[in-house]
Amino acid sequence: AGYGADGIYRSPRPLAPIQTDPNLSMTDLLFRRADACPNALALVDAATGRSLTFAALRSAIRTTAAALATRAGVRPGDAVLLVAPNCVLYPVCVFAATALGAVATTANPLYTTREIAKQAADARVKLLITVPDLLPTVTSLNLPVILLDSDDLPASATPNVTRYSDLVSGVDEAAYRRPPTKQSDTAALFYSSGTTGESKGVILTHRNFIATSTMTTSDQDQRGEGGNVCLCFVPMFHIFGLAVITFAQLQRGNTVVVMSSFAMDTVMWAVERYRVTHLLCVPPVMIALAKQGMSGRHDLSSLRFILSAAAPLGKDVMEVVAKNFPNADIVQGYGMTETCGIISFEFPTNGKARRFGSTGALATGVEGKVVDVETLKHLPPNQLGEICVRGPHIMQGYFNNVQATDFTIKQGWLHTGDLGYFDEKGQLYVVDRLKELIKYKGFQIAPAELEGLLLSHPEILDAVVIPFPDTEAGEVPIAYVVRSPSSSLIEVDVQKFIESQVAYYKRLKRVTFVEGVPKSASGKILRRELIAQVRSEQAIS
Ligand code: AMP
Repeated sequence: AGYGADGIYRSPRPLAPIQTDPNLSMTDLLFRRADACPNALALVDAATGRSLTFAALRSAIRTTAAALATRAGVRPGDAVLLVAPNCVLYPVCVFAATALGAVATTANPLYTTREIAKQAADARVKLLITVPDLLPTVTSLNLPVILLDSDDLPASATPNVTRYSDLVSGVDEAAYRRPPTKQSDTAALFYSSGTTGESKGVILTHRNFIATSTMTTSDQDQRGEGGNVCLCFVPMFHIFGLAVITFAQLQRGNTVVVMSSFAMDTVMWAVERYRVTHLLCVPPVMIALAKQGMSGRHDLSSLRFILSAAAPLGKDVMEVVAKNFPNADIVQGYGMTETCGIISFEFPTNGKARRFGSTGALATGVEGKVVDVETLKHLPPNQLGEICVRGPHIMQGYFNNVQATDFTIKQGWLHTGDLGYFDEKGQLYVVDRLKELIKYKGFQIAPAELEGLLLSHPEILDAVVIPFPDTEAGEVPIAYVVRSPSSSLIEVDVQKFIESQVAYYKRLKRVTFVEGVPKSASGKILRRELIAQVRSEQAIS
């Protein structure tokens, strides 16, 4: 375990069974589960209690796939875009698309029309799946639309819009024909800005999802666990919600309780109502759990495993949560879209006290190294550098963007853009971010997108967007803007200009007018210098 003579860290976890069949698809793996435990509960809608057993899930996926192929004309390789909050049909549609050899792509339902249109064009989307509330946002895209949760609505008069219930009505699951899918085929395009620039399509194959699912649940195998119940309020448009929670847990035969949005009260209620054992969440939820504890109105004694990932979480919060939930393992995990959601997570310790603060050991089958940011040379334990990883879960590259791919994957190693170190025991510590990415409660904000919008304003000559620390959200975006000489723009004008074009969490918290944006001799924005300056001002105030 730990640091090898070649400077590479290897997972101390026992190697999980590798799915070697090159023709295995994501749904083949899932359907094996349906064969093994057809009557166990697979998916439950927390609010309505509506549920699917594994047999019913298999049947729903096959029926939807057959209907998408025969009635919506979806062909292998076509991109299908989902823009919806979490619901039971969300994974059904994603898996149905992949079962046809099509490519599922997902967007945040908070997005504006502009943001969705951009992704739809980039991913060359053929069909859009959404919910009635979002129809006004997507209508102008001129794509065929399937509407989930629209049974109460009259059948649409618009030829482009089909209710999901009409799409599948009268379709027999036996009509589903499995195409000759291979593990190496693309299953999904999840969007991430990566190290630099705007959001890009991360190419993830069936193999990537299968690998992540085995890595995620290997500790459950190790401990011989069964029948776990996971709550999923983390959005399924994000890799964490879809790959690490929904797909990984389902293929292991666990129940996934689906929540469409996050509210602490409802989470507590759902834990009690469905005897949830596994809570996979993001730092703001851990902060709420630290404040609230077990003392609330609900019986939370079923919780055995609480994991936080997607953004950094302080050691003190982990310690308080551990005290509040003595019967649960409190675990931090680290992953990214480009690694299909997983890199490392802590070993469960059966509630025993331990040192918090790391993001744990590499997941089974993952290799890691830390390299000097300038020289790219391997660094020994406890030295800070860029974290690089490789393994069967690493993306194939960015869609249609060779340059960004080559910049990120070098000789098979994915450069995470995160700054950190391994200790001598192989525990990974993520210390800071080298890349531009801003994270608001785990949501991605690409500074390049906001800078592009700012520069499109006729009175703005130059702009830079950087993260600003925020106790609740982790980080919020702020901008430094150079006005044209005659401009009388004020902060709120700039904020409003951005506000109308982006999802709420990308709004600029602060706009500072400056004479010039600090740049290197080659014209590159000196982002890290600016971030360091803001941090030191923060520390003083
Ligand atoms: P995403 O692709 O949206 O999942 O974002 C991935 C990025 O989130 C990583 O590269 C890290 O910068 C950050 N991240 C995820 N998990 C953690 C963690 N446990 N601690 C610190 N940063 C994290």
